[in-house]
Amino acid sequence: MARRDYYEVLGVKKNAGPDELKKAFRTLALKYHPDRNEGDTDAEARFREVAEAWDVLGDPEKRVRYDRLGPLYTDSGRPPSPDQVNDMLREAFGGLFRRRRADAPGEDLTYTLTITLEEAAKTLDRTLVVQRQVRCTRCLGTGDHAENRMPCASCGGSGKSGTRRLFRTECPVCDGKGYKPAAKCEKCNGEKRGPMEESLRVKVPAGVATGSKLRLKQKGNDAAPVVGTTAGATGDLYVLVQVQEHALFRRRGPDLLCEVPVTLAELALGADLVVPTLDGNTTIRVPPGTPSGKSFRLAGRGLPGDTGKGDLHVKLDVETPTDLGVEAKAGLLAALAAASHPRRAEYQSVMKVRR
Ligand SMILES: [Zn+2]
Ligand SMILES: [Zn+2]
Repeated sequence: MARRDYYEVLGVKKNAGPDELKKAFRTLALKYHPDRNEGDTDAEARFREVAEAWDVLGDPEKRVRYDRLGPLYTDSGRPPSPDQVNDMLREAFGGLFRRRRADAPGEDLTYTLTITLEEAAKTLDRTLVVQRQVRCTRCLGTGDHAENRMPCASCGGSGKSGTRRLFRTECPVCDGKGYKPAAKCEKCNGEKRGPMEESLRVKVPAGVATGSKLRLKQKGNDAAPVVGTTAGATGDLYVLVQVQEHALFRRRGPDLLCEVPVTLAELALGADLVVPTLDGNTTIRVPPGTPSGKSFRLAGRGLPGDTGKGDLHVKLDVETPTDLGVEAKAGLLAALAAASHPRRAEYQSVMKVRR
């Protein structure tokens, strides 16, 4: 495969000095860095080309050989591995891409999602608009113009002070960074990350209750790296579900309870009652002589639960009239009083014995 001219790749002249080469590499490496060009395969190819060119030209020995052989130059015949690329970046940026102890992770975020009971009964697709802190795409989370950084004069870029290996500490001049920071990034004002509104699709499973928690991995805040781009993990987003109280239904696990007020006449004479369910009304047949407090079970009309769908229990609750007219009192209620009440009769006979 024809190799591109490495000097051309870095955009420098053949007689470019080491500093000029390094600066060109830094600028292009930042420009084509995969973090900054997500999904852009052209940029990724350019980034690899740039890394390969720097691998050769950045090494004085290899450069001499390359200058002598030109396009015939072969190294191992393999492009640098990701680890090698990381090493190159680390060297060229004086600690910028240095892998150090993991930085603190980004914060987790919480979003309270309020839904109706009807919505809780079915799988729900929702789009949440969430404000997250995301890593700055201009400076890749370095907070400054990293391509212009100068190595720290005090520690020579090592970030360590002292000469005796065992007793080395962080360089006090650069706080162990190994470089003097360049001008602040204008986009994030040096904060390394900034707020971004993001629309996130979330699938809420059927049967959730208040207190149910959904986790959207890595949709919390990006970490603000302490040094370079080796940031801690991105936090998670927790969606806290809150199911609104319903005017008609109460919930008991997957079952639903509904109290329906009825008249004495409906219970005594029987009636077709229209009662609510979560998906529309339905009619239940109340047989004549139904006692107050009787429950009707509508199988499978509850909410989805661990062991299948719950039931809907409709409880009839007689409402005693309080505004009867004189006539009603005389006629209707007299007739009602005269009707047979077998349970009451039994109760009275027991009470008689107690006297
Ligand atoms: Zn230093
Ligand atoms: Zn920035």
